[in-house]
Amino acid sequence: MSELLRLSISEANDLLSRRKVSSVELTTAALQRIRNSDDRLRCFLTVTDDLALAQARRADERLARGETGSLLGIPLGIKDVILTKGVRTTAASRILENFIAPYDATVSRRLFEAGAVCVGKLNCDEFAMGSSTENSAYQVTRNPWDHDRVPGGSSGGSAAAVATGQCIGSLGTDTGGSIRQPAACCGVVGIKPTYGRVSRFGVIAYASSLDQVGPMGRCVEDCARILSVIAGHDTNDSTSVEVSVPDYAEALGPSCKGLRVGIPKEYFVEGMQPEVEKAVHAAVAQFERLGAVVSEVSLPHTEYAVPTYYLIATAEASSNLARYDGIKYGLRRGESDGLLAMYRRTRAEGFGTEVKRRIMLGTYALSAGYYDAYYLKAQKVRTLIRRDFEKVFAQQDVIVAPTAPTTAFRVGEKTSDPLQMYLSDIFTISINLAGLPGISLPCGFDAMGLPIGLQIIGRPFEEARVLQAAHAYEQSTEWHKRSPPD
Ligand code: GLN
Repeated sequence: MSELLRLSISEANDLLSRRKVSSVELTTAALQRIRNSDDRLRCFLTVTDDLALAQARRADERLARGETGSLLGIPLGIKDVILTKGVRTTAASRILENFIAPYDATVSRRLFEAGAVCVGKLNCDEFAMGSSTENSAYQVTRNPWDHDRVPGGSSGGSAAAVATGQCIGSLGTDTGGSIRQPAACCGVVGIKPTYGRVSRFGVIAYASSLDQVGPMGRCVEDCARILSVIAGHDTNDSTSVEVSVPDYAEALGPSCKGLRVGIPKEYFVEGMQPEVEKAVHAAVAQFERLGAVVSEVSLPHTEYAVPTYYLIATAEASSNLARYDGIKYGLRRGESDGLLAMYRRTRAEGFGTEVKRRIMLGTYALSAGYYDAYYLKAQKVRTLIRRDFEKVFAQQDVIVAPTAPTTAFRVGEKTSDPLQMYLSDIFTISINLAGLPGISLPCGFDAMGLPIGLQIIGRPFEEARVLQAAHAYEQSTEWHKRSPPD
């Protein structure tokens, strides 16, 4: 693999601004890498060669004029639930197989205005529903560390592409863990920002009260740089919040002196892989060496997070996915048999099994007579989960925990048992329910050489503190320097 594809964003930035390398060269190397590796890894649903080279040429012109910018000329990939004008955007679903996005999502627009280059659209679970990328209607992305294993999900393409050097960074989305869990499985860094930190305009909705876009990269600083570009209020998304966006990369430093770190006892559960537990404890000890003050804390409602999430997320999904009816856009089947038959056939053929399961669960939870017992109850438990965090954050600055209970599992291992699959997210889901920022970064490897993820959770809108803690830990370890075999 070209050395160019191992560069961090700031290293690439430096070479670009000193004219040692051009964006066209960087982009060509990335496209070449995709061509050489993606028949095995299957990270991309669409490779946008022409767009990428046109954007790279434009970036080189801006660089030649002496312009600077942290993402100017940097090749990135974008999860295929995020709209990119003029480019096919499928949500990894048959129902949007030929859908060409008519406009850019705000996050895409911000990246492009900053001069980033889009090399393609990344595979994921259909409508971001899953934890392994096996629910994609098109292909199963492979884990670059072991091709018989899943990359995690739902942003599995975004994680695997970055790990294997097909792009320098990427965007994912996280509704219940979909940035952090694949980051952990693939040995990269991914941050889910606070709900409201990043605009959801132009992001294909799964569960609107939980969905957030976030960056993935090979180091904390790369994620910080991307986040600074995509974050901030957007008049097109009324849930995006008007709070100022710091320069996240600027705020990074080596120290954790006095940082109060809470370790939730509920996040070390029976059945978790012993090597994961050991690696996380070792990371906690490292935080102490860096000057942090560590205490055990309790998040007592943790055990209700998975059922609460699967009521709220499916209820919102059933409503969001009602729009795919064959009328305005997307697949249309059975037109000649009347309106109802058309709805039925379009949705029967357009949606995959897991998406149908969730639409049915969500419709049931919202139906008259069951609403109070399920949906309303789940909303109340959600409040209890949020309050658990508020109590802990009155005493602690960040919470440190595992990202996932195991390292990457085998392709096919959990597909026949949805409940087992849902349990991959037991440590990430509460953070979405509470709307908090959370990052995953590498903290070790198991005996099979598979990466282990460490999660750091912060108070609302304190991404800077989360990134700072993550960066200090990362820079005191070597984990992020390992790359998967070529
Ligand atoms: N794995 C979880 C689910 O299937 C989370 C997915 C996500 O964050 N988009 O819903």
